[in-house]
Amino acid sequence: MTTPAEQLYASHPRSWRENKFVYPVLSRRSRGISLGINLNPDKVCNFDCIYCQVDRTSSAETRFVEIDRLLAEVDWMLRFVTSGDIYADETFQSVPAELRRLNDIAFSGDGEPTTYRNFDEIIQAVADVKRSYGLDGVKLVLITNASMFHRPAIEKGLRILDAHNGEIWAKLEAGTDEYFQLIERTKIRFRQVLDNITAAARIRPLVIQSLFMNVNGQPPSAAEIDAFCDRLNEIIGAGGRIKLVQIYTVARQPAESFVTPLKNQQVDAIAGNVSDRTGLNTDVYYG
Ligand code: SF4
Repeated sequence: MTTPAEQLYASHPRSWRENKFVYPVLSRRSRGISLGINLNPDKVCNFDCIYCQVDRTSSAETRFVEIDRLLAEVDWMLRFVTSGDIYADETFQSVPAELRRLNDIAFSGDGEPTTYRNFDEIIQAVADVKRSYGLDGVKLVLITNASMFHRPAIEKGLRILDAHNGEIWAKLEAGTDEYFQLIERTKIRFRQVLDNITAAARIRPLVIQSLFMNVNGQPPSAAEIDAFCDRLNEIIGAGGRIKLVQIYTVARQPAESFVTPLKNQQVDAIAGNVSDRTGLNTDVYYG
């Protein structure tokens, strides 16, 4: 039987009432409430991950980020969550007491947030709203595929995150070019992503987020997981710091029907392998 918290983890809608850009979720990886900010309302992404959960079967109603409206929504939602009013709402009334905490404001949404043109400016503006509530302990999380870190405006945005209790969750879920292309389906080279993660991890410790799955019934091979560990070790060897590797699997409807979740034991086995071969901390989340 699923608990109320598990039902909420599985639902994760990226919309809230009449809001266009800001939505609250109970996040299993945040262990509490996360306020999501959607910088890609047009649903365009520079990756086309086979497991993506963004619903691209319906067209986007909003195409552009309206900064003033987005900031007003952040302001309103911060008041709604920190006042506790959110737990009187029918969607969140079943949240257990230990999860009734605002963990973070997360830049995620319906595409890759770092492709947003004024990325550094929006990070600063949201950080300012957070500070106006005295919420220094609330993180600013960037959920990213790490494909754009080499651009100056993004580098600047990452440094603004660093100054405001920021945390970067960078996607890495392959060890080889071939598997990277199978999963992420992008023109961006795997080497670029690895170089970007390494460069960013040399400045501050990163969280690596790694979703593994069955593709046509096949889990990633042992050789692929070994290669994945090799890539992590290369990042560390180049002076990069990784504070955590999140190993998880598909929990919601994926883009492709040939993608299915791993069993809990398979997720555990990958995490065990990663800790043994890299010495890194891992967290697991099941499907
Ligand atoms: S990077 Fe994220 S939003 Fe883009 S296709 Fe992959 S899972 Fe979807």
